[in-house]
Amino acid sequence: MTARTAEVAVFAGLRGPARTFSYLVPDELDLLPGHLVRVGLGQRAVAGVVISLDGVPARELRPVDSLVHPLPLLRAHQLALAAWIAERYRCGLADAVRAMLPPALASRARGSKLGAARGERSEPVFTIAPAGRAALDGGTRFGARQLITLRALAGGASAARELAEVGGTLDAARALARRGLAVEGRRAVRRIPAEFALTEDDRMRDVPATGAQAEAIAAIIAALGTGRGFLLHGVTASGKTEVYMRVAAEALARGTGVVVLVPEIVLTPQVVARFVARFGERVALLHSALSAGERFDEWRRVLDGAADIVIGSRSALFAPLERVGLVIVDEEQEPSYKQESDPRYHAVDVALELGRISGAAVVLGSATPRVVTYHAARSASLAILDLPTRVSDLHLPPTTTVDLRLELRSGNRSTLSTALRTALVETVRRGEQAILFLNRRGFATIVLCRDCGYVVKCPACDIPYTFHADGTLVCHRCGRRQARGPERCPACGSPRIRQLGVGTQRVEEEVRATVPTARVIRLDRDAVRAKGAHAVAYQKMRSGEAQVMVGTQMLAKGLDLPGVTLVGVVNADTILNLPDFTAAERTFDLLTQVLGRSGRGPAGGRGILQTYLPDHYAIRAAAAHDYAAFAESELAARERFGYPPFGRLVVLATQARRLETVVRRSDELAGWLREAAAADAEVLGPAPAFAAKRAGNHRAQIILRGVHPDRLLDRVRISDEWTVDVDPVTLLG
Ligand code: ADP
Ligand code: ZN
Ligand code: ZN
Repeated sequence: MTARTAEVAVFAGLRGPARTFSYLVPDELDLLPGHLVRVGLGQRAVAGVVISLDGVPARELRPVDSLVHPLPLLRAHQLALAAWIAERYRCGLADAVRAMLPPALASRARGSKLGAARGERSEPVFTIAPAGRAALDGGTRFGARQLITLRALAGGASAARELAEVGGTLDAARALARRGLAVEGRRAVRRIPAEFALTEDDRMRDVPATGAQAEAIAAIIAALGTGRGFLLHGVTASGKTEVYMRVAAEALARGTGVVVLVPEIVLTPQVVARFVARFGERVALLHSALSAGERFDEWRRVLDGAADIVIGSRSALFAPLERVGLVIVDEEQEPSYKQESDPRYHAVDVALELGRISGAAVVLGSATPRVVTYHAARSASLAILDLPTRVSDLHLPPTTTVDLRLELRSGNRSTLSTALRTALVETVRRGEQAILFLNRRGFATIVLCRDCGYVVKCPACDIPYTFHADGTLVCHRCGRRQARGPERCPACGSPRIRQLGVGTQRVEEEVRATVPTARVIRLDRDAVRAKGAHAVAYQKMRSGEAQVMVGTQMLAKGLDLPGVTLVGVVNADTILNLPDFTAAERTFDLLTQVLGRSGRGPAGGRGILQTYLPDHYAIRAAAAHDYAAFAESELAARERFGYPPFGRLVVLATQARRLETVVRRSDELAGWLREAAAADAEVLGPAPAFAAKRAGNHRAQIILRGVHPDRLLDRVRISDEWTVDVDPVTLLG
């Protein structure tokens, strides 16, 4: 076979879906799949990655111009994974390949060579020139500063820090350079962002593992190289991170690379910091908080073999490790593991597939795994490892549920129940700390029946209307307005249906009024717009400067505050009211995480959950810290409706300026799908999307639900006017 062709995914900064083009392989080029090449595209020369090699060309083709980097950028296991992603999530292979490469690759590969990691930040460095040595020996006269600096350079110092140690300065070094006595240059600095840099040494490394940890560690180590998957199920502070680090050390010792996925890295810097403290320079950070250039640099360090343990968000899965021995997914239940643009992959499923392809052991860690994962673990496709108790003798905080309907009946109209108010006053009086959590920011207010919990919703979007100060109800999805709320509850007829404020600012005000002597801080997206504000708030609590923290989801994660003895959930129901198949699961997860902030110190702790739905299984189970009970009820509910894991889902979504266009288009497709549907899937809808209107576009969706909804997609062609989301984590797109 002489003339061969190469399919090349071209990265020309092309918007929209990535495309592949065929090129002729010149005889002198020994191309492999994964190679970065330069090819002509129209008038331009651009970079691209060879995704496959084929036989004789069927037509006249342009040849590949040159090879940009001697080694394939994508390893064989990555190309196999890209093929799986394209197939599973119904996207183009080029899209899947592009998702595996750093966004800055195209620009860095503009020349005929792939740029080295060059560091976004650089610092000036100096070396002494021959004339400088001569001047030192020859008794040339200097100012004191310059003399000290020149001597330091003669002694091998080069950067500002080294000069400063002996009293030299950058200014003096520059002056010497101007006199021809020193040479100035720059060098890249790789900076581990301050929030990930841990100064204290890592004393945990040598602490003996607990019995449960030891069992988990042994099981995972035994599975290295087998592609086996595990669910590491352990409450917060049960020692999961320590397990991750010990199995990672073993995988590294065997010469294989490690991938650690963490959600929302900015909110959980501690986990990253602990890995950095233990593994140092071997760690590469790949996450969205880095600039494109920094990401490229970190990726390049992995490609070059300088780093072999990669920590980051979803895309860290695609780091070019030569061999992957272990993949860890921390907090596997996090919805952010699902990518909400093409390719719409779920990082957990991709991690498991990467394990199958590469033989890596895969560990999914969580205190509150998705019931899908839990079900898989019980049905033996994953092995389950339990860390049932906290490492220290700390107990999970006993939690009381407060029925807000009774509270209102007894005449309390504030957002804080009598029980929570009393507990807060007590906590502050004892000099302890409290966290109050709620799910919304600003003054968002819903209209709710105090007797049955009914919430007034937009008839078009089925989400709660927001009550505005002038009395109107506004739907913040579609913009629909209603002049006033109903006089009586449409569900139970009660007249006690009124607005209910659940904003952080309002709670903050009530807290200040309740405990006027306490220092109160607020933590929500409004309050932490400024970079680093999250860390500052955390420090204020840690140091005891603040006593009460009021906030949203942001304070659910990661915060280790031993002084906190009370966690109050102002309204546990906000997510539960959403019409989504994961609403109960997300509620249980969030409440568990929030309650886990309490009782992490010697003084113990307690929790108070305020709710209008005290009998809901998600609320009951969260208050009792009973994951198994929650999973039981949730799985039963899922089974009744054929939701995952008992069926799979595909969401097809479309949008257009004109409502008629959307209606016609979706009716048409739904008709075809229904005609083609067999036992594989049922077709639900079309229906207006949860966000029925966005940016001037009307939106609609069709849901496929069944054992093999993807097979239906083989039989019906879906046009580019639709997005296809296989295995969605929400139906509220
Ligand atoms: P998780 O990841 O489940 O929240 P961590 O691994 O962070 O749990 O452990 C919780 C705390 O217990 C941490 O401060 C950790 O350093 C400590 N710890 C973990 N394992 C041990 C052990 N075997 N002995 C003593 N302390 C431990
Ligand atoms: Zn609406
Ligand atoms: Zn009612």
